[in-house]
Amino acid sequence: MSKALPAIFFGHGNPMNAIQHNSYTEAWSAIGRKVGKPKAILSISAHWYVPMSGVTIATAPRTIHDFGGFPEALFQVQYPAAGDPVLAARVQRMLAPIPVTQDSHWGLDHGTWSVLCHVYPEADIPIVQLSIDETRPASFHLEVGKWLAPLREEGVLIVGSGNLVHNLHTYAWGRHVQEPYDWAVRFEQLAREMLVTGESTPLVNYESLGRDAQLSIPTPDHYLPLLYVIGTRQDKERVSFPVEGVDGGSISMLAVQVGG
Ligand code: ZN
Repeated sequence: MSKALPAIFFGHGNPMNAIQHNSYTEAWSAIGRKVGKPKAILSISAHWYVPMSGVTIATAPRTIHDFGGFPEALFQVQYPAAGDPVLAARVQRMLAPIPVTQDSHWGLDHGTWSVLCHVYPEADIPIVQLSIDETRPASFHLEVGKWLAPLREEGVLIVGSGNLVHNLHTYAWGRHVQEPYDWAVRFEQLAREMLVTGESTPLVNYESLGRDAQLSIPTPDHYLPLLYVIGTRQDKERVSFPVEGVDGGSISMLAVQVGG
């Protein structure tokens, strides 16, 4: 059996990262060089948060510019990676008997491409997106990660894209530098400790972790991709944090890597 690829949760943050070069994007590029090129990528993005389980099956998935109010240059970005309908069908089978829709309309949203355009700038690795079914409890998303774990042995890089702390109400848009909020720092630290020790139960039951967690996770969409990634963790596998930082006071850019 070949060595398993890691699974990685990326904090994608501001879509502008796609066309900027900063400490986060440099760290993303370094991850790509270190991990090397997988056969395919399965991406679970905060921005495909819908009331169903779906996989993308387009052979040439479109680059979706799912945001507003950003410079034209961001709307010009294309990430022309191929799709992988065979992998999509495999994911569908792995989740059975959960019904999974083969979706030919969705492509790559910015949760996927704004990060991968730095990790794999040549866009030469096929990508399938798996939606986050918003009707399911948090425990479901961890379970799906467990079911998908064998893909790591088959050359598939499992990527989650969201943000561990994601509060846009308190986010400092624009230029002024905002120190991280104390509640954001505390929650990130607590989560890091649980990730290292492998305590997934409180991370699934994050709503019972108090006020810091409520402020850090006002809605589940950007948090849940993390549960897929940690769901793939095998016994005693190492968890590391190849990207760190808090942007605008309330967006954690923490990347969480399982294995590798
Ligand atoms: Zn986002």
